Amino acid sequence: MHNLQMVDLKRQYLKIKPEIDAAIHQVIDSTMFIGGSDVTHLATELAAYVGVQHVIPCANGTDALQIALMALGLKPGDEVITPSFTYIATVEVVALLGLTPVFVDVHPDTFTMNVESVRAAITPSTKAIIPVHLYGQCADMEPLMALAEAHNIPLIEDNAQAIGGNYTFSDGKTAKTGSMGTISCTSFFPSKNLGCYGDGGAIFTNDSVLAEKLKMIANHGQKVRYYHEMVGCNSRLDTIQAAILRIKLRHLDSYCDARRAAADYYDQAFANNPKITTPFRAPNAVHVFHQYTLKVNGVDRNDLQKQLATRSIPSMIYYPVPCHKQQMLEAFGTADNDLPVTNMLQDCVISLPIHTELTEEELSYITKNVLELIG
Ligand SMILES: *Cc1c(COP(=O)(O)O)cnc(C)c1O
Repeated sequence: MHNLQMVDLKRQYLKIKPEIDAAIHQVIDSTMFIGGSDVTHLATELAAYVGVQHVIPCANGTDALQIALMALGLKPGDEVITPSFTYIATVEVVALLGLTPVFVDVHPDTFTMNVESVRAAITPSTKAIIPVHLYGQCADMEPLMALAEAHNIPLIEDNAQAIGGNYTFSDGKTAKTGSMGTISCTSFFPSKNLGCYGDGGAIFTNDSVLAEKLKMIANHGQKVRYYHEMVGCNSRLDTIQAAILRIKLRHLDSYCDARRAAADYYDQAFANNPKITTPFRAPNAVHVFHQYTLKVNGVDRNDLQKQLATRSIPSMIYYPVPCHKQQMLEAFGTADNDLPVTNMLQDCVISLPIHTELTEEELSYITKNVLELIG
């Protein structure tokens, strides 16, 4: 089997090469490398796609989260509730801003924030809650939104892994991921579902006062050039990246469909193996499979990964050390937090290749080998 990868960006690029090459050359020809119409058009197109009023493009997904927290005007020591079972960026920005991360557990099936854990973690110092739509599955937003509203706490959606997904409320209304939080953040890192050819990110909100503030913070705290009203940062999306993203946004729905089709194939192949639990798909959400992550039991997970590698099948552990146990956060003394599901998942998850270009031949090769190795 040739060159299997977790994400195959080369084959995806080759399918849209003429459009992408033309867009990149147009930016180079214009020599407008910062700002310009591609960035403003992308913001408008993303706002329409996700269904929000305002989109502020920025340099990456981590900046998006940092700027979101800065816009809420939090003070050192304010508490921010996040899952521990997430990429470190969600939590790092909390610590960076002098805020206190408060970790909650996740559901063993959806891998997203457990609402009851959040309820129990709320204190008078809780000033934000960050649900993460991990692996492409939307967190259970309806009860989270009700809880946040009851306590008047802003919700920041970390939508880095789930753009294109959606969620259905009990009244039947649906909403795209990234449209439900007070502020939502996404990343355009190349391997994300909507990835550019470098770094990129964006911030989403329906609140026009917050939108103004987010825009200022991302631009050195200025509204009028050289008049700096507040401490901000420098976080811009490059024009070339915006031009690429405008093209890829048109393909996002079909990219999500392709990921789901690969997930369907995996699900079927693994359905009858008692040692494998395939990803749960919440009935009130459309999963966009940023990752295809199995839970294995009665299997030496790390050895399985090694054996797969010898057969040229890449796999990944997202994430081998949950945030609450990271040395970075030692000062918060969270290593012994009671997060049984998070601790359990750390030892049994394994993610297989998932992207928009997987062929049936590749899926067959991967599943055959996984089943053979697991026995
Ligand atoms: C990728 C990711 C981020 C950070 O995005 P960058 O663009 O790499 O800074 C934040 N949160 C989650 C859950 C992510 O997967």
